Amino acid sequence: MTRPNYRPWPFLFATPLALLVAAPAVPAELVPDPPHDCEWCAGWSQPREPFRIFGNTWYVGTAGLSAILVTGPEGHILLDGALPQSATQIQANIEALGFRILDVKLIVNSHEHFDHTGGLRAYNHIGATVITHWKNFDFLNRDVINYTPRTLRPDMVSLWPPTELAEGYYFETVRENYVLTDGNRTMQIHYVNPLQHAEGMLMAYLPKEKLLLEADLVDTFEPLPARISGDQRSFFNAVQKLKLDVARLVPSHGRPIPWAAFDAAARVPQK
Ligand SMILES: [Zn+2]
Repeated sequence: MTRPNYRPWPFLFATPLALLVAAPAVPAELVPDPPHDCEWCAGWSQPREPFRIFGNTWYVGTAGLSAILVTGPEGHILLDGALPQSATQIQANIEALGFRILDVKLIVNSHEHFDHTGGLRAYNHIGATVITHWKNFDFLNRDVINYTPRTLRPDMVSLWPPTELAEGYYFETVRENYVLTDGNRTMQIHYVNPLQHAEGMLMAYLPKEKLLLEADLVDTFEPLPARISGDQRSFFNAVQKLKLDVARLVPSHGRPIPWAAFDAAARVPQK
């Protein structure tokens, strides 16, 4: 693909007079892509009241798909984009808590499945950078956030493709470990492998809050299994190896649970 000769975000180059005449073209709200249809999607998309998980960490997802907001003075971090149709629900939840969607600067994408990446394009329109495992980069950059016109109104990406897009500057890719900090609090991002579920899986750990955020490895809308799966063993091993001091497990599907509950299940002797 040739590098498009567009200036990024043309309103930034408008004269002050023009700015007075025309409102800046920053979308006031997220307008998602057409809804993704799947067996579970309607149930997942039921509304859920946002709630505080711990400290500055908030649940802003739908009934069945978590989106975790970590707020801070330098901007907010969102973990996962859920379905395309979740974007407006997540925005409403963020605003109900008194935060601004435009202050979401980073989105940590746990993995590439549709129920975690669907909303990413909408967030890309507000200039958020996506943090993902490097194995997901090509898929996200070419197939999820690309120049193809969508039904977004306004579809800023196809109208004025930012030059950064062609070179993937909207992404930070992680190989093993990655740390975000505002100088006061940190979020550690770690690669989880080997897994059958997905190749480029990231989990996020907040050491001050002792929260571990993960997707699709331990779903808590159903009872924990009597014997943990191979993927759950990989996840448990990663937590042990990294010596993470976890108090609460915050899953993508289901409510937060004490880490001790999963820890106990993982320590049941395997035959
Ligand atoms: Zn998945």
